[in-house]
Amino acid sequence: MSKQNIGGGRDRLRIAIQKSGRLAEPARALLTACGLSWRESRDRLFCYGESLPIDLLLVRDDDIPGLIRDGVCDLGVVGRNVLVEQDIALTRTGAGPAFAELRALGFGACRLDIAVPDTWDWQGPPQLAGLRIATSYPAILQRWLDDQGIEAGVVELSGSVEIAPKLGQAEVICDLVSSGATLAANQLRPATTLLQSEAVLAGPAHAFDDARGALAELLLRRLDGVLRMRNSKLLMFQAARDDVPALLPLLPDAESPTVMRLDGDDGLALQALCHGAVTWQRLEELKRAGARGLMVVPVEGMLA
Ligand code: ATP
Ligand code: ZN
Repeated sequence: MSKQNIGGGRDRLRIAIQKSGRLAEPARALLTACGLSWRESRDRLFCYGESLPIDLLLVRDDDIPGLIRDGVCDLGVVGRNVLVEQDIALTRTGAGPAFAELRALGFGACRLDIAVPDTWDWQGPPQLAGLRIATSYPAILQRWLDDQGIEAGVVELSGSVEIAPKLGQAEVICDLVSSGATLAANQLRPATTLLQSEAVLAGPAHAFDDARGALAELLLRRLDGVLRMRNSKLLMFQAARDDVPALLPLLPDAESPTVMRLDGDDGLALQALCHGAVTWQRLEELKRAGARGLMVVPVEGMLA
Protein backbone atom coordinates (compact mmCIF):
# COMPACT_ATOMS: atom_id res chain seq x y z
CA MET A 1 0.00 0.00 0.00
CA SER A 2 1.62 3.27 -1.03
CA LYS A 3 1.38 6.34 1.18
CA GLN A 4 -0.32 8.17 -1.65
CA ASN A 5 -3.23 5.78 -1.47
CA ILE A 6 -3.98 6.52 2.14
CA GLY A 7 -5.48 9.88 2.97
CA GLY A 8 -4.21 11.22 -0.36
CA GLY A 9 -6.31 12.39 -3.32
CA ARG A 10 -9.96 12.93 -2.65
CA ASP A 11 -11.25 12.10 -6.09
CA ARG A 12 -11.51 8.38 -5.35
CA LEU A 13 -13.86 6.79 -2.88
CA ARG A 14 -12.47 4.26 -0.43
CA ILE A 15 -14.68 1.60 1.14
CA ALA A 16 -13.57 -0.55 4.08
CA ILE A 17 -14.91 -4.09 4.24
CA GLN A 18 -14.10 -7.03 6.48
CA LYS A 19 -11.04 -8.93 5.27
CA SER A 20 -12.31 -12.31 6.43
CA GLY A 21 -15.29 -13.35 8.49
CA ARG A 22 -19.04 -13.38 8.22
CA LEU A 23 -19.42 -10.10 6.32
CA ALA A 24 -16.44 -10.40 3.97
CA GLU A 25 -17.94 -12.35 1.07
CA PRO A 26 -21.45 -10.91 1.10
CA ALA A 27 -20.03 -7.37 1.23
CA ARG A 28 -17.81 -7.98 -1.76
CA ALA A 29 -20.60 -9.73 -3.66
CA LEU A 30 -22.95 -6.81 -3.06
CA LEU A 31 -20.41 -4.26 -4.29
CA THR A 32 -19.67 -6.46 -7.29
CA ALA A 33 -23.40 -6.56 -8.05
CA CYS A 34 -23.23 -2.74 -8.07
CA GLY A 35 -20.81 -3.02 -10.99
CA LEU A 36 -17.57 -2.44 -9.06
CA SER A 37 -14.45 -4.39 -9.92
CA TRP A 38 -10.92 -4.20 -8.57
CA ARG A 39 -7.37 -4.96 -9.46
CA GLU A 40 -6.09 -6.75 -6.38
CA SER A 41 -2.81 -5.67 -4.94
CA ARG A 42 -0.32 -8.32 -3.96
CA ASP A 43 -0.89 -7.94 -0.22
CA ARG A 44 -4.66 -7.97 -0.82
CA LEU A 45 -5.30 -5.31 1.82
CA PHE A 46 -5.96 -2.66 -0.76
CA CYS A 47 -7.92 -3.32 -3.96
CA TYR A 48 -7.70 -0.65 -6.64
CA GLY A 49 -11.06 0.09 -8.30
CA GLU A 50 -11.04 -0.52 -12.04
CA SER A 51 -14.57 0.04 -13.32
CA LEU A 52 -15.02 3.13 -11.12
CA PRO A 53 -12.66 5.15 -8.89
CA ILE A 54 -13.89 3.22 -5.85
CA ASP A 55 -11.20 1.31 -3.94
CA LEU A 56 -11.50 -1.30 -1.20
CA LEU A 57 -9.58 -1.63 2.02
CA LEU A 58 -9.77 -5.07 3.67
CA VAL A 59 -9.61 -4.81 7.45
CA ARG A 60 -10.96 -6.18 10.74
CA ASP A 61 -14.58 -5.23 11.20
CA ASP A 62 -13.91 -3.50 14.54
CA ASP A 63 -11.49 -1.10 12.82
CA ILE A 64 -14.02 0.12 10.25
CA PRO A 65 -15.74 2.90 12.25
CA GLY A 66 -12.36 4.28 13.36
CA LEU A 67 -11.06 4.29 9.78
CA ILE A 68 -14.12 6.28 8.69
CA ARG A 69 -13.75 8.68 11.58
CA ASP A 70 -10.09 9.27 10.82
CA GLY A 71 -10.91 9.84 7.15
CA VAL A 72 -8.72 6.93 6.06
CA CYS A 73 -11.84 5.40 4.51
CA ASP A 74 -14.95 7.14 3.27
CA LEU A 75 -17.49 4.35 3.68
CA GLY A 76 -17.56 0.94 5.30
CA VAL A 77 -19.61 -2.24 5.43
CA VAL A 78 -19.95 -3.21 9.07
CA GLY A 79 -22.44 -4.73 11.50
CA ARG A 80 -24.81 -2.19 13.05
CA ASN A 81 -23.75 -3.66 16.40
CA VAL A 82 -20.15 -2.49 15.87
CA LEU A 83 -21.17 0.89 14.46
CA VAL A 84 -23.64 1.71 17.23
CA GLU A 85 -21.23 0.55 19.95
CA GLN A 86 -18.45 2.83 18.74
CA ASP A 87 -20.85 5.70 18.03
CA ILE A 88 -22.20 5.63 21.60
CA ALA A 89 -18.67 5.38 23.02
CA LEU A 90 -17.55 8.42 20.99
CA THR A 91 -20.68 10.39 21.81
CA ARG A 92 -19.95 9.80 25.50
CA THR A 93 -16.59 11.48 25.13
CA GLY A 94 -18.24 14.40 23.34
CA ALA A 95 -16.75 13.41 19.97
CA GLY A 96 -19.90 11.98 18.40
CA PRO A 97 -22.21 11.27 16.77
CA ALA A 98 -19.47 10.36 14.35
CA PHE A 99 -21.20 8.04 11.90
CA ALA A 100 -24.25 7.74 9.71
CA GLU A 101 -25.92 4.48 8.76
CA LEU A 102 -26.54 5.08 5.06
CA ARG A 103 -28.22 1.79 4.13
CA ALA A 104 -29.17 -1.49 5.78
CA LEU A 105 -27.80 -4.21 3.53
CA GLY A 106 -29.94 -7.26 4.28
CA PHE A 107 -27.24 -9.73 5.35
CA GLY A 108 -25.36 -10.53 8.56
CA ALA A 109 -28.60 -10.44 10.54
CA CYS A 110 -28.27 -11.08 14.28
CA ARG A 111 -29.50 -9.70 17.60
CA LEU A 112 -27.69 -8.32 20.59
CA ASP A 113 -29.44 -10.17 23.40
CA ILE A 114 -29.26 -10.54 27.13
CA ALA A 115 -28.99 -14.27 27.76
CA VAL A 116 -29.61 -15.91 31.12
CA PRO A 117 -29.00 -19.44 32.46
CA ASP A 118 -31.66 -21.70 30.95
CA THR A 119 -32.79 -22.78 34.43
CA TRP A 120 -33.87 -19.23 35.30
CA ASP A 121 -37.43 -18.08 35.43
CA TRP A 122 -37.02 -14.81 33.47
CA GLN A 123 -39.26 -12.08 34.82
CA GLY A 124 -37.96 -9.06 32.97
CA PRO A 125 -35.08 -6.57 33.04
CA PRO A 126 -35.41 -5.55 36.74
CA GLN A 127 -34.17 -9.05 37.57
CA LEU A 128 -30.72 -7.96 36.34
CA ALA A 129 -30.24 -5.41 39.14
CA GLY A 130 -27.04 -6.01 41.08
CA LEU A 131 -25.80 -8.78 38.75
CA ARG A 132 -22.70 -8.89 36.59
CA ILE A 133 -23.28 -8.93 32.82
CA ALA A 134 -20.43 -10.03 30.55
CA THR A 135 -20.32 -8.41 27.10
CA SER A 136 -18.19 -7.16 24.21
CA TYR A 137 -20.70 -4.31 23.79
CA PRO A 138 -20.33 -2.30 27.02
CA ALA A 139 -21.57 1.01 25.57
CA ILE A 140 -24.81 -0.39 24.13
CA LEU A 141 -25.40 -2.41 27.28
CA GLN A 142 -24.77 0.53 29.62
CA ARG A 143 -27.07 2.79 27.60
CA TRP A 144 -29.80 0.15 27.76
CA LEU A 145 -29.32 -0.32 31.51
CA ASP A 146 -29.50 3.46 32.00
CA ASP A 147 -32.70 3.63 29.91
CA GLN A 148 -34.20 0.86 32.02
CA GLY A 149 -33.02 2.48 35.25
CA ILE A 150 -31.14 -0.66 36.26
CA GLU A 151 -27.84 -0.74 38.12
CA ALA A 152 -25.76 -3.76 37.17
CA GLY A 153 -22.09 -4.53 36.70
CA VAL A 154 -20.79 -4.49 33.14
CA VAL A 155 -17.90 -6.93 32.64
CA GLU A 156 -16.16 -6.17 29.37
CA LEU A 157 -14.73 -9.21 27.57
CA SER A 158 -13.29 -9.23 24.07
CA GLY A 159 -14.37 -12.76 23.20
CA SER A 160 -15.88 -16.06 24.41
CA VAL A 161 -18.52 -14.14 26.32
CA GLU A 162 -20.82 -17.16 26.36
CA ILE A 163 -18.59 -19.08 28.79
CA ALA A 164 -18.32 -16.21 31.29
CA PRO A 165 -21.11 -17.58 33.56
CA LYS A 166 -19.40 -20.99 33.66
CA LEU A 167 -16.09 -19.33 34.57
CA GLY A 168 -17.78 -17.34 37.31
CA GLN A 169 -16.97 -14.00 35.66
CA ALA A 170 -20.63 -12.97 35.42
CA GLU A 171 -24.13 -14.27 36.07
CA VAL A 172 -25.57 -13.36 32.67
CA ILE A 173 -24.28 -12.22 29.30
CA CYS A 174 -25.11 -9.71 26.57
CA ASP A 175 -23.96 -11.09 23.23
CA LEU A 176 -24.75 -11.51 19.54
CA VAL A 177 -27.19 -14.26 18.75
CA SER A 178 -28.36 -15.60 15.43
CA SER A 179 -29.60 -19.18 15.73
CA GLY A 180 -29.20 -19.42 19.51
CA ALA A 181 -27.23 -22.68 19.16
CA THR A 182 -24.13 -21.27 20.89
CA LEU A 183 -26.25 -20.11 23.82
CA ALA A 184 -27.99 -23.46 24.11
CA ALA A 185 -24.63 -25.28 24.06
CA ASN A 186 -23.67 -23.17 27.10
CA GLN A 187 -26.94 -23.70 29.00
CA LEU A 188 -28.07 -20.13 28.29
CA ARG A 189 -31.17 -18.80 26.64
CA PRO A 190 -32.09 -15.41 25.16
CA ALA A 191 -34.11 -13.25 27.54
CA THR A 192 -34.43 -9.85 25.86
CA THR A 193 -33.14 -8.03 22.76
CA LEU A 194 -31.15 -4.78 22.95
CA LEU A 195 -30.45 -4.31 19.25
CA GLN A 196 -31.54 -5.87 15.95
CA SER A 197 -28.45 -5.89 13.79
CA GLU A 198 -27.45 -6.52 10.19
CA ALA A 199 -24.65 -5.35 7.94
CA VAL A 200 -24.95 -1.66 7.07
CA LEU A 201 -23.19 0.79 4.81
CA ALA A 202 -21.68 3.34 7.15
CA GLY A 203 -20.31 6.77 6.38
CA PRO A 204 -19.28 9.90 8.25
CA ALA A 205 -21.98 12.01 9.90
CA HIS A 206 -21.33 14.82 7.39
CA ALA A 207 -21.64 14.79 3.57
CA PHE A 208 -18.60 14.79 1.27
CA ASP A 209 -17.81 18.19 -0.19
CA ASP A 210 -15.69 17.02 -3.12
CA ALA A 211 -15.78 14.48 -5.97
CA ARG A 212 -16.46 11.71 -3.48
CA GLY A 213 -19.98 13.05 -2.96
CA ALA A 214 -21.02 12.24 -6.53
CA LEU A 215 -19.33 8.82 -6.33
CA ALA A 216 -21.10 8.00 -3.08
CA GLU A 217 -24.42 9.03 -4.62
CA LEU A 218 -23.82 6.89 -7.67
CA LEU A 219 -23.00 3.94 -5.46
CA LEU A 220 -26.08 4.49 -3.27
CA ARG A 221 -28.35 4.63 -6.35
CA ARG A 222 -26.92 1.38 -7.66
CA LEU A 223 -27.13 -0.16 -4.21
CA ASP A 224 -30.81 0.76 -3.94
CA GLY A 225 -31.41 -0.91 -7.31
CA VAL A 226 -29.57 -4.07 -6.27
CA LEU A 227 -31.23 -4.27 -2.83
CA ARG A 228 -34.68 -3.71 -4.26
CA MET A 229 -34.06 -6.23 -7.02
CA ARG A 230 -32.75 -8.94 -4.67
CA ASN A 231 -36.24 -9.69 -3.39
CA SER A 232 -38.04 -8.84 -6.60
CA LYS A 233 -39.47 -11.17 -9.21
CA LEU A 234 -41.18 -10.62 -12.51
CA LEU A 235 -44.51 -12.44 -12.46
CA MET A 236 -46.02 -13.29 -15.86
CA PHE A 237 -49.40 -14.89 -16.50
CA GLN A 238 -52.51 -14.85 -18.63
CA ALA A 239 -56.08 -14.29 -17.53
CA ALA A 240 -59.57 -13.57 -18.78
CA ARG A 241 -60.36 -9.86 -18.77
CA ASP A 242 -63.12 -10.35 -16.17
CA ASP A 243 -60.75 -12.01 -13.70
CA VAL A 244 -58.15 -9.23 -13.72
CA PRO A 245 -59.74 -7.01 -11.01
CA ALA A 246 -59.66 -9.94 -8.57
CA LEU A 247 -56.10 -10.90 -9.51
CA LEU A 248 -54.42 -7.52 -9.09
CA PRO A 249 -54.73 -7.30 -5.27
CA LEU A 250 -53.13 -10.75 -5.01
CA LEU A 251 -49.85 -9.61 -6.59
CA PRO A 252 -47.29 -9.29 -3.75
CA ASP A 253 -46.25 -5.65 -3.44
CA ALA A 254 -46.37 -5.18 -7.21
CA GLU A 255 -45.68 -2.16 -9.37
CA SER A 256 -48.49 -1.44 -11.88
CA PRO A 257 -48.53 -4.40 -14.25
CA THR A 258 -48.07 -4.28 -17.99
CA VAL A 259 -51.23 -5.61 -19.62
CA MET A 260 -51.23 -6.91 -23.22
CA ARG A 261 -54.05 -8.23 -25.37
CA LEU A 262 -53.65 -11.77 -26.61
CA ASP A 263 -53.94 -12.24 -30.35
CA GLY A 264 -57.28 -13.75 -31.44
CA ASP A 265 -58.37 -14.29 -27.84
CA ASP A 266 -60.36 -12.28 -25.36
CA GLY A 267 -57.71 -12.96 -22.72
CA LEU A 268 -54.92 -10.71 -21.48
CA ALA A 269 -51.25 -11.31 -20.78
CA LEU A 270 -49.96 -9.56 -17.66
CA GLN A 271 -46.53 -8.98 -16.28
CA ALA A 272 -45.84 -7.35 -12.95
CA LEU A 273 -42.68 -6.60 -11.01
CA CYS A 274 -43.34 -7.90 -7.49
CA HIS A 275 -41.25 -6.73 -4.55
CA GLY A 276 -42.96 -9.02 -2.02
CA ALA A 277 -42.36 -12.74 -1.60
CA VAL A 278 -43.80 -14.78 -4.47
CA THR A 279 -44.57 -17.95 -2.51
CA TRP A 280 -46.11 -21.20 -3.77
CA GLN A 281 -49.15 -20.39 -1.72
CA ARG A 282 -49.56 -17.04 -3.44
CA LEU A 283 -49.17 -18.67 -6.87
CA GLU A 284 -51.90 -21.18 -5.99
CA GLU A 285 -54.20 -18.34 -4.89
CA LEU A 286 -53.57 -16.56 -8.19
CA LYS A 287 -54.34 -19.77 -10.09
CA ARG A 288 -57.61 -20.22 -8.22
CA ALA A 289 -58.50 -16.63 -9.06
CA GLY A 290 -58.08 -17.37 -12.76
CA ALA A 291 -54.37 -16.85 -13.61
CA ARG A 292 -53.06 -19.26 -16.28
CA GLY A 293 -49.51 -20.08 -17.32
CA LEU A 294 -47.94 -18.43 -14.28
CA MET A 295 -44.24 -17.83 -14.64
CA VAL A 296 -41.86 -16.36 -12.00
CA VAL A 297 -38.75 -14.78 -13.50
CA PRO A 298 -35.72 -13.56 -11.50
CA VAL A 299 -34.66 -9.96 -12.15
CA GLU A 300 -31.02 -9.42 -13.06
CA GLY A 301 -30.85 -5.64 -12.93
CA MET A 302 -32.98 -2.59 -12.36
CA LEU A 303 -32.45 1.15 -12.52
CA ALA A 304 -35.24 3.34 -11.25
P1 ATP B 1 -12.73 -9.71 12.64
O1 ATP B 1 -11.60 -10.64 12.48
O2 ATP B 1 -12.99 -8.92 11.40
O3 ATP B 1 -12.66 -8.85 13.88
P2 ATP B 1 -15.02 -10.93 14.00
O4 ATP B 1 -14.69 -12.28 14.56
O5 ATP B 1 -15.12 -9.77 14.92
O6 ATP B 1 -14.03 -10.65 12.77
P3 ATP B 1 -17.36 -12.06 12.67
O7 ATP B 1 -17.58 -13.19 13.62
O8 ATP B 1 -16.99 -12.37 11.26
O9 ATP B 1 -16.39 -10.94 13.25
O10 ATP B 1 -18.72 -11.20 12.70
C1 ATP B 1 -18.84 -10.04 11.97
C2 ATP B 1 -20.26 -9.50 12.14
O11 ATP B 1 -21.19 -10.47 11.69
C3 ATP B 1 -20.71 -9.21 13.55
O12 ATP B 1 -20.23 -7.97 14.03
C4 ATP B 1 -22.21 -9.19 13.36
O13 ATP B 1 -22.64 -7.93 12.86
C5 ATP B 1 -22.45 -10.23 12.29
N1 ATP B 1 -23.04 -11.49 12.80
C6 ATP B 1 -24.09 -12.16 12.26
N2 ATP B 1 -24.39 -13.25 12.96
C7 ATP B 1 -23.53 -13.33 13.97
C8 ATP B 1 -23.33 -14.25 15.04
N3 ATP B 1 -24.09 -15.31 15.21
N4 ATP B 1 -22.29 -14.02 15.88
C9 ATP B 1 -21.49 -12.97 15.70
N5 ATP B 1 -21.65 -12.06 14.71
C10 ATP B 1 -22.66 -12.22 13.86
ZN1 ZN C 1 -14.23 -8.16 14.96
